[in-house]
Amino acid sequence: MAAVMMKQQCTPWFRFEIGVFQGCTASTILFNVAFNTCFTHLAQLRDECGYQFTKADVKLLTTGYADDLGMSTQPTTHEGVYRSANENNQRVTDSLNEWLEWSKTMAAKPKKCVAMSLVKGKPVEPNLTIKCKGKAEPMARISDEAYGGSCRDPWFKFLGRFLLENLSEQQAKKVLLTMVQDAEARLGGTALRGTQKTWIWDSYVMSSISWLLMIHNMAPTFVADLQAIQTRCFKAWLGYTKTGNNSIFYRSKAHCGLQLKEMMSWNKQNRLIRRHILSTSSDPQVQAIHKMVSAKQNSSNTNEWKDCKELESLKQVFMFETMRGPLRQASVGVGWGHRRQQAQSTVKEERAAILRIFKEQTEESRMAEVLTRLTATGEWIHWHESVLQLDARWHSLIACESDYQLRFWMCAIEDVLPTPSMRHRWGMQADKTCPLGCGKVGSLCHILAGCWRALDEKPQSRITWRHDSVLLAIYRATLAVVNRFKNEQAQAKQKPKGSPKRVILFKGGHYEGQQPKSHGEAESVSFQAPRAPEVKSVLAKASDWKIQFDLEAPGMRQNSRVFPPDVIQTTLRPDGLIWSTSSKTMVWIELTSPWEANAPEWHVKKAEKYNQLKCDIEAKGWKVHDLYVEIGARGHVHRPYYSLCSVLGFTKAESRELKQVVEQVAKLCSHAIFVARYQRVWQERPLLDLFQKQ
Ligand SMILES: [Zn+2]
Repeated sequence: MAAVMMKQQCTPWFRFEIGVFQGCTASTILFNVAFNTCFTHLAQLRDECGYQFTKADVKLLTTGYADDLGMSTQPTTHEGVYRSANENNQRVTDSLNEWLEWSKTMAAKPKKCVAMSLVKGKPVEPNLTIKCKGKAEPMARISDEAYGGSCRDPWFKFLGRFLLENLSEQQAKKVLLTMVQDAEARLGGTALRGTQKTWIWDSYVMSSISWLLMIHNMAPTFVADLQAIQTRCFKAWLGYTKTGNNSIFYRSKAHCGLQLKEMMSWNKQNRLIRRHILSTSSDPQVQAIHKMVSAKQNSSNTNEWKDCKELESLKQVFMFETMRGPLRQASVGVGWGHRRQQAQSTVKEERAAILRIFKEQTEESRMAEVLTRLTATGEWIHWHESVLQLDARWHSLIACESDYQLRFWMCAIEDVLPTPSMRHRWGMQADKTCPLGCGKVGSLCHILAGCWRALDEKPQSRITWRHDSVLLAIYRATLAVVNRFKNEQAQAKQKPKGSPKRVILFKGGHYEGQQPKSHGEAESVSFQAPRAPEVKSVLAKASDWKIQFDLEAPGMRQNSRVFPPDVIQTTLRPDGLIWSTSSKTMVWIELTSPWEANAPEWHVKKAEKYNQLKCDIEAKGWKVHDLYVEIGARGHVHRPYYSLCSVLGFTKAESRELKQVVEQVAKLCSHAIFVARYQRVWQERPLLDLFQKQ
């Protein structure tokens, strides 16, 4: 019975017999309930005709989902009568016909009924028929290219899986290859930018093929071919060199990579998901078949990748992790952070953990590959743990950066840019010395951060230009924060002081040993809630802050270039000074823009250089915060950056924004310096000012 309701009106109830209403949520459940009678009806023949697995205690007759129905049979000898598999199958089909007739509403479509038969592994003609409108119609053989006078595909798609008569994955492979090649051609033919094409590939194409990878058993060699197409696309779109290490596309961001989905491991991930779903199924038949496959894989000694074996070893790692608890990670101490797994995890959590461990192991093997080729590439291995992860969100890659910049960064990380020393190594150039004529080897490190000729250039040095551009961004951020604190203090002065916060009130309570004054009267007692002492930023302690940065940029007041003489007389001059005479506090910022590998060394060197000055000022009763910041030539920010943010009281957003800006500025400037590597005369140019332009 059904009725249609619109706003306030409702039609009378009416009967419907065949078909369902669109959007009806009950219909699928009703359909399954009704269709289940079919499975029950056919189950009578299961023991007699069903297919018996040799290595599992499973007799399979019907498989299906919604209105898809599969029937499998085998030859049997029942009470002395031999029946071939086809005869048995015809019996089951006839039984299905009985059910169809009984249902009164359902009928078979011979065009969509497909049969296949294997005798000793060889496909043979099944010769099955199915009744339609009381007449027996032949079923199409799976490999038939025509049925009833019209063309049909010589394969069958059952529950999303491509089936062929010889049970091979040929058709699925063909479809998958077409999808990948089609994506390559279609994306390649558009006028999109390389980063955009890469993003579409990573988020759309890879997801669209994941189902096919999940339900078919694709051979590793075939997936390797697909990966070759993928890498070829990324290389062409992002303009990466032929000689560079391809792992840069797939490595995690923490390892200076783009963290794209790699076809080989993507395939394995999908297969692991399938295997995990099957292994945790509540259906005893599925469980039994899974155990059979697992036993078969465990007894096999081939080198081929096996999903059951992999799943079992990952599960063991997961169990071990659960018992062990978290480990020390990178720069954080033991016991830091949350326990990642609970003792008893649900199936979904277990699957997520297994995939995470798989990804970690894959990343490890990528790193092992980089380490074994260390002489050629992978210089970043030496310093990637001492710097902060670069802002490589797709948002900023697509929206902010040009493809040239990404290309420069990728090649700079792998050190495969055409510098004189690299061109010499590739046999393209005999001379490998610095083009500026300093006599040293013209490596990327030398060009970006090591050439004394570049440093001594007049009127402007290219190295100083990058240094000052980065410093300008730090100046702008610092100025904004100092002003913010000044405003907050001005506002705080205007407001009257409120009552002390966070007081817990107990009504009618009394301290131990103290009697309430009178029994009828409730008395309230208040307690100060215990709280950690409030950490105040250095800048919150005074309001007479002065800022002096060693910079020349348009719109900036020309500061005197000497250290404030009322504090101390000295010839030393850190890059940025912030001081308050009333609170006798001095903060200085010294910036270096070195080759990333040298950042820790520079940090110590600069601290040494200014140590005496610090002691002298402290002897006069001042408090000194000396901050040394290193922003690498390729944009990587050295870890001590965060001490600058915490001393100056940056908010999280402010410190993130400044980090992004200095990364951008360093990369852009270094790119310009690299482009001008053969120009002996550096054209003077204004400082790069990106702050608040994002
Ligand atoms: Zn040089």
